Amino acid sequence: MATTADAIIIGAGLVGTSTAYQLARTGRRVILCDQKAGPGYGSSSASSGIIRFEYTLATSVIVAWEASHDWANLRDYLAAPATEPLAQFHRCGKIMIDCPAFPRDLLQNYFESIGIEYEYWDAAELPKRIGGLDPGRHYPPKPIDAPEFWDDPTGQLGAIYTPQAGFIDDPRLACENFADAAVRAGAEVRYRAPVVGLARAGDGYQADYRAGRAGQASPTGWADQVGPNGRVGNTGLSGDTGLPGHRGPAGDTRLSGQPELPGRTNPGDGIGQIASGVWQVLLSSGELLEAPLVVNAAGPWSPEINRLAGAGGEFSITTRPLRQEVHSVPAPAGFNPPDGLGPAVADQDLGYYLRPEPSGGLLIGGTEPDCDALDWVEGPVDAVNMNRTAELFEKQVTRAARRFPGLAIPPRPAGVVGVYDVATDWTPIYDKTDLPGFFVAIGTSGNQFKNGPLIGEFISALIEADGRGQDHDVVPVRYTGRVTGRQIDLSLYSRLRQPAANSGTVAG
Ligand SMILES: Cc1cc2nc3c(=O)[nH]c(=O)nc-3n(C[C@H](O)[C@H](O)[C@H](O)COP(=O)(O)OP(=O)(O)OC[C@H]3O[C@@H](n4cnc5c(N)ncnc54)[C@H](O)[C@@H]3O)c2cc1C
Repeated sequence: MATTADAIIIGAGLVGTSTAYQLARTGRRVILCDQKAGPGYGSSSASSGIIRFEYTLATSVIVAWEASHDWANLRDYLAAPATEPLAQFHRCGKIMIDCPAFPRDLLQNYFESIGIEYEYWDAAELPKRIGGLDPGRHYPPKPIDAPEFWDDPTGQLGAIYTPQAGFIDDPRLACENFADAAVRAGAEVRYRAPVVGLARAGDGYQADYRAGRAGQASPTGWADQVGPNGRVGNTGLSGDTGLPGHRGPAGDTRLSGQPELPGRTNPGDGIGQIASGVWQVLLSSGELLEAPLVVNAAGPWSPEINRLAGAGGEFSITTRPLRQEVHSVPAPAGFNPPDGLGPAVADQDLGYYLRPEPSGGLLIGGTEPDCDALDWVEGPVDAVNMNRTAELFEKQVTRAARRFPGLAIPPRPAGVVGVYDVATDWTPIYDKTDLPGFFVAIGTSGNQFKNGPLIGEFISALIEADGRGQDHDVVPVRYTGRVTGRQIDLSLYSRLRQPAANSGTVAG
C-alpha cells in the first residue's frame, strides 16, 4: 500500500523544513523526505548563515528584514519548548564596504523607507569602529596572483553599518529546529530516503539512473523499464509493476484519470481542486508515497528532481549547482571588541565576505568577483570534491588580509565546502509549475538562508492561492509582511520571469 499524504516535500534543508512546517500548520498531512541521515545536511549545513539587508532589489530587502524578525523570535515562531536547543541569531551587525554594485544612496533610501536602522561610517570613522581595518580602495577585485593585486590603494572607502544584521550560529541545527516544529505540527519525516522516482498518476514512471542510484532503483524493477525518453512507459503502470503494494489502473481509480484523492474526505476543498491527479513518489527503500502536492526543495539536487518529474520545460530561469568554500581563520587582534563580536563584513571592493564565529575565529567566503572563475558543478552533485583546497583558501584569505593586514594566514586550510544552486539571475524560484500540484522552491543562489522562515510561508501562500483557483502566472500572489505591512509580490520569484536586474552575484 502506498502511504498517502496531502503534500510531499523533497529535501529537508532549510527550504524544505520551513515549507513542511508551514504546510503542516495549515492542517495538511505532510511527509518530508531527505536522502541524508537528518535535516540540514545539504547546502544548508555549509551556510555562513549571514543575515543582512543589503540587496539591490527593494523586495529582497523587505523579505530579509521581515525574516530577521522571525529568526530573532525563533522559539515563538516555531512554538518550540523552552528546553529545546535552538540555533542562535547573533546580532553582531554588519558593514557593507562601498562598491559600485551597491550605491550608498540606493541602500540608504531602502533602509530609510523600510525603517532599517543604519549608520554610514566614512573612511576616517571606519578604522576607528573596526580594529585593524584598512579602508583603502582597490576596486575592481584582481586575481591574487596578478601583480596589480598588490598595487597601492586608489582612494579610501567608507561603509554602511546595519546593527541589526548578524548571523545564525548553527545552520544545520536551524534546519533541525524547523523539522522538529513541522513534526510537532503533525508532519511525518523520512530520512535516509532518497527519492528515486516521481510520477503523476497516468504519466508513467521515470527511473533514476544517476551514478550510484540506479542500483537502488533497480530492485523495484524501474531501472530496467526505462523507455526511449528516459521515461518508463505507461506499460509500467498498466498491470502489476512489481512495485510494493502497487496495483494498475484496472483496480485503482487513482490511475484511471479520476481525481479521487487518497486519504481526503473532502476532495472538493482547496487541495482537491488544484490537482487533477495524484503524485507518486518512490523512495529507494521501495516505499511509495502519494499526495496531490509535491514541493521540490532539493537545493543543488533540484534539477534532478525536476527531471524525474518532467518539470522545467517552460522555465525561463534555470538553475545550476556551484561549488563554494568557506574558510576559518583566527580573528585579527582588535577585530572583536572586548565585550562581544566584531561585525560581519561584505567587501566587494576586494571580493570576499567574512563574519565572526562565537568561538573567536572568522569565516571567510567569496563574493564571486569577475576576475575569478566560478567552480560550476558539471557532473553529479554527489561527486563534488568536498575537501577544501589550498588554492581557494589562499585566494579568499589573502583578499581579506588586504583589508585586515593583521590577519594571520594559517599554514593549513580549514573550513567547509558547500554547493548551492544558482538561478540565472541569482534570485530564487518559488513557484508553481505547469505540472498541476508540483511546486518548486529552488535556485536559492547562495543568499536565501536568511529568508528561510518566509520561504515556507511563500510556498504555503502559493499553494493556498492555487487551491482557490488563482493563476499566479496571471494574478500574482501577494504576501503581506508582518513587520512592515508591505505587500510582497511573489512574481519576483516566478519561473517565467525576465531575469531580475540585480547585482548578478551571490549578493543578490
Ligand atoms: C558555502 C555557503 C555559504 C552560504 N552562506 C549564506 C549566508 O551567509 N546567508 C544566506 O542567506 N545564505 C547563504 N547560503 C545559501 C543558503 O545556505 C542556501 O540558500 C540554503 O541553505 C538552501 O537551502 P535548501 O533547503 O534549498 O538546500 P539544501 O540545504 O541543500 O537542502 C536540499 C536537501 O534536499 C535533499 N535531497 C536532494 N536530492 C534528494 C533526493 N533525491 N531525495 C531526497 N532528498 C534529496 C538533500 O539531501 C538536502 O538535504 C550559503 C550557502 C553555501 C553553500
